[in-house]
Amino acid sequence: MTAPTEGVGTGSLELSPERMLELADLASRLVVERLSALDGEPAWRGGSRSDLEALLREAAPEEGRPAEDVIRRAAHEILPVAGRVDHPRFFAFVPSSPTWPGVLADYMAAGHNIFQGTWLGGAGPSQLELVVLDWFRDWIGYPDTAGGLFTSGGSAASLDAFVAAREHAGAPDRATVYMSDQSHTALIRAATIVGIRPAHVRMVPTDGHFRLDTAELGRMVEEDRRAGFTPVAVCANAGATNTGAVDPIDAVADFCEEHDIWLHVDAAYGGFAVLTEKGKAVLRGMERADSIAMDAHKWLFQPFETGCLMVKDVRRLESAFTVHPEYLQDTRWGTEHPNFGDRGLQLSRSFRALKVWMSIQTFGVAAFREAIAKGIDLAYQAEGYVRASEVLQIANPASLGVVCFRVHPKGSDLDEGSLERINEVVQARVIETGIAMMSSTRLRGLYSLRLCILNHNTDWEDVERTLAAIERFGEDEIARSSG
Ligand SMILES: *Cc1c(COP(=O)(O)O)cnc(C)c1O
Repeated sequence: MTAPTEGVGTGSLELSPERMLELADLASRLVVERLSALDGEPAWRGGSRSDLEALLREAAPEEGRPAEDVIRRAAHEILPVAGRVDHPRFFAFVPSSPTWPGVLADYMAAGHNIFQGTWLGGAGPSQLELVVLDWFRDWIGYPDTAGGLFTSGGSAASLDAFVAAREHAGAPDRATVYMSDQSHTALIRAATIVGIRPAHVRMVPTDGHFRLDTAELGRMVEEDRRAGFTPVAVCANAGATNTGAVDPIDAVADFCEEHDIWLHVDAAYGGFAVLTEKGKAVLRGMERADSIAMDAHKWLFQPFETGCLMVKDVRRLESAFTVHPEYLQDTRWGTEHPNFGDRGLQLSRSFRALKVWMSIQTFGVAAFREAIAKGIDLAYQAEGYVRASEVLQIANPASLGVVCFRVHPKGSDLDEGSLERINEVVQARVIETGIAMMSSTRLRGLYSLRLCILNHNTDWEDVERTLAAIERFGEDEIARSSG
């Protein structure tokens, strides 16, 4: 015998209940320790391929090792070398800050290894998924006919939506899809996967605030129809990733109704703002869409892979996806007992709805509403700070938790090249110094810094500290470049 291996018998994959509890306790303690220390840690830790190769490369061990060592290695060597997407000063891309009941739900669902593809496979979980989706339906203001499913995320949700839209349009050969030049590239990818030629994904120009230009949309659709194309879907942003822009959803819905085209709203990060008063006003008209993608792993504070697709008439989703293999004949229990595997791409699915349910049951909707409202307000406050600054300039006003700006002193005559270089240096310093994690983007080609403020643990102090550091680094850099 070599090293001691786990397992109750030789070659066994089983652990005794005592060992299971010991290991679960260790894993839990390590996760909670991380969360408790997070605020004092940098918001991001990267690693080069060569360093990580040296640390982690090995052949799969033939013999097992003590499980504590394995768990500690995961907690110390692997998991921390990553973006801390849930850090209160992680403002890059789209942050995700899960609530603890959501994390535990993932663990419990895995522990029960729920198969959430058929009613037969998971009756309780299927009923719960229906219940949680009906909560979303009510929040959106969708009718009783609406339903949907949990997905891995917005990418999968838009993919499923496009399949339903394409089938609704009669699966035409020369299909086109429309989205704004600010739409997430996941939508382009989803459209091409469902068979829309890349050249037939039409990018509609946007206005001064990055909102889809409906007149342009009308012109493009008309031109395409005359040329023999069949428009199968129009996508509207309800929180574009770049700027938080919300397209004129009501006007786009009018257009789609008039021209009988499927309206898909990409509300992947912004959708749950509908729970708040301000968000509801901004997202007005969303309930008119044929389908809506919303990621609970973004602004509903769940761990990753908690996306969702809602469809106004769920039968359209089911008619697009339902299949009848003979080996699943036992699973047909009739429409009262939906099989979630018949609403989208995945058959073997995990039980994602439990995360939302346990979180909402634990804290109540009011706490979530407040947490989302805080993000919206912090972004407005950040905009106010930028506007009052001598060094910073707004690139696009705050919208749904996102604000874009850059270092550009009032009255300065720095050319675009210098401004870009200064802003790149500032962004790099904010990250290097560990003050915050922040990403950049381009707005109409111009380099812009961007804060996405969605974390329920983020306070004004976190935002202010970050903005003050940006100002300070900006001043340093300007002095250096003119000195
Ligand atoms: C995050 C996001 C997506 C992609 O969703 P995933 O969950 O990453 O698959 C699409 N659109 C918008 C607006 C997003 O914010």
